[in-house]
Amino acid sequence: MPIVEVAISVPLNRTFDYQCDGEVAVGSRVMVPFVRKKVVGIVLSVKDKSEFDKLKSVEEILDESPILDKPVLDFLFWAAKYYHHPIGEVLLAALPKNLRLGKEAKIKKVAGLPTKTSQPDFDITQEQSLAINEILAKQNNYHGFLLHGVTGSGKTEVYLRITQEALNQDKQVLVLVPEIGLTPQMISRFERRLKTRVVAIHSQLNETQKLDAYLMAKNGEAGVILGTRSAIFAPMPKLGMIIIDEEHDSSFKQQSSFRYSARDLSFIRAKQANIPLILGTATPSLETLKNTMDGKLTRLTLANRAGGVVMPKVSLIDMRSNTGDALSKMLIEKMQQYLSQGKQVMLFINRRGYAPVYFCTECGWKAECNHCNASMIYHRHINRLKCHHCGDEKMPEQTCPDCNEQSLEVYGYGTERLEETLSSHFSDTPIIRIDRDTTRRKKALQQHLEKINSGEPCIIVGTQMLAKGHDFSNLAMVGILDIDGGFLSTNFRATEYLAQLLIQVSGRAGRSGEQGEVVIQTRYPDHPMFNYVLSNRYTQFASGLLKQRMSAMMPPFAHQALLCANAKNKQNAEDFLREVASLLKSIEMNTVEIWGPTAGIIEKKADYYYFNLYLQSNDRSALHQMLATFNQHIDSIKLKNKVRWYLDVDPID
Ligand code: ADP
Ligand code: ZN
Ligand code: ZN
Repeated sequence: MPIVEVAISVPLNRTFDYQCDGEVAVGSRVMVPFVRKKVVGIVLSVKDKSEFDKLKSVEEILDESPILDKPVLDFLFWAAKYYHHPIGEVLLAALPKNLRLGKEAKIKKVAGLPTKTSQPDFDITQEQSLAINEILAKQNNYHGFLLHGVTGSGKTEVYLRITQEALNQDKQVLVLVPEIGLTPQMISRFERRLKTRVVAIHSQLNETQKLDAYLMAKNGEAGVILGTRSAIFAPMPKLGMIIIDEEHDSSFKQQSSFRYSARDLSFIRAKQANIPLILGTATPSLETLKNTMDGKLTRLTLANRAGGVVMPKVSLIDMRSNTGDALSKMLIEKMQQYLSQGKQVMLFINRRGYAPVYFCTECGWKAECNHCNASMIYHRHINRLKCHHCGDEKMPEQTCPDCNEQSLEVYGYGTERLEETLSSHFSDTPIIRIDRDTTRRKKALQQHLEKINSGEPCIIVGTQMLAKGHDFSNLAMVGILDIDGGFLSTNFRATEYLAQLLIQVSGRAGRSGEQGEVVIQTRYPDHPMFNYVLSNRYTQFASGLLKQRMSAMMPPFAHQALLCANAKNKQNAEDFLREVASLLKSIEMNTVEIWGPTAGIIEKKADYYYFNLYLQSNDRSALHQMLATFNQHIDSIKLKNKVRWYLDVDPID
């Protein structure tokens, strides 16, 4: 009987052989017995001999034709090797959940073709035209581009036009967007413009919809696949172009189990398919700027906002003399001014809940999570203290557990408290709060956005969710509160991220018509970063950061990998990494530096203690050689009771 080699989603660096009496193609799913269970696996090869005897048999062949075609399999193999992640987990993670569970690969509801499309009523600018022509000149081969356009410069318009060209050639286009950037507005812009099926792949869809979208990408019926990071793995037989919007966004990096970067992988996918890759952003990551310097990406610039709109005016309010109020007098006055003109105002504060601190004014006691090294956040509407790391919650104490005084108070602001404060200052103005708490219900976000898009004067209070992608035409002013934590962070990328965030949030202001205004409240008005942000000189700021990274030999000039271990017993986690460190040191590769183990930034999360071991090298291949050796030996390091660990190649935090 023929034998098939099958990949199964288990954390082991190996595949499994089974007997199989039917015909099955490589890349198809099979149901196989595995440790008293039945699991879905992917056939990797068909052969007539196995080095193992007493093979079990395939129970069911699930696909008549491969679910993963050769190009996608090759791509996934590359990814598994690069991230040193077990192939079975990588292959299965690339499938939508219903396929992973063994359900039939059949489309339930075919998306309709658009009945009416409309073209814009403006001409493209010269900058846009240049960018489009340069990209199209290279459309039949691999070529990487950085489309560096300020916020509102018409990058999306460029995407639409090059996509239309690819569609004219009967090709498919993959557009990747950040998790929170895939707005209904973005989807409808593509749908309204292009005479093709546009399928969206994102977390708001149910599993049936996700499967349908995946299968329409796979059979070529969908011309445009608009998705968040996992869409990079979708099979697209006619793939002709990849566009990554907001390439700097950290949500392209998966931060659990298979820790890949969809942005980084897009280079490989585009090379394997021999097609152009376009990375678009107003605030390129330092990795992308370095790639541009090294000639791996061609830079295309849109230096001006489209339609004659000017960039917003940005100014600072010094909060050093402020006593703890969220809103300075000056900010309130400015808001009043815009609202009285019938405009909308947005306040950005990156913290949900009512207040981040619940403490005792007598003795300084502070409500902390029992399971994490973190403060509990007070949520007023439910009168609960919640931990944003592990989800634990409890009733707030009425008297201080330490000194027994009735002296407990909140300190600081989250979106909920800000909304309350605003309604006392602006009792006649509608306030729309957008954060994870107010958008949990399906369609809630869409309803909030529709209200904003109606254009009526209002105050929008929001977190990160509002930072990018949105195009609110009547939004004249943006106030940015409480970003100072970014200056105190220990992450070496913190200032890069902060500058990107400020520019993206600012970019929401004044996108049509008159000049918008941005006001940033800070206790660090002298920080050099503001010089650049105020005058919209991101590139110069980023060049300065790049020089610092180069002289310190930090990424993107060096390559890193992180080994993280965690356990309920602190000592076990640390000891495990010590053993790993001595194993790695015994490999004697002196071009790779090994740092640690050190405790995680939040040492305890959900009762587990976290420790990190960092590997760094200027020589990527040396680093990867070491990781491969590590992978071969990891099983021999006795897994101390219940130590969990993961490897993160090119970590970002
Ligand atoms: P970005 O993606 O760079 O933020 P968008 O593509 O969303 O910018 O464009 C911002 C606004 O400008 C949109 O409302 C868009 O319709 C409009 N726009 C784009 N290109 C032009 C143009 N050439 N002339 C006039 N308006 C334009
Ligand atoms: Zn007390
Ligand atoms: Zn917790």
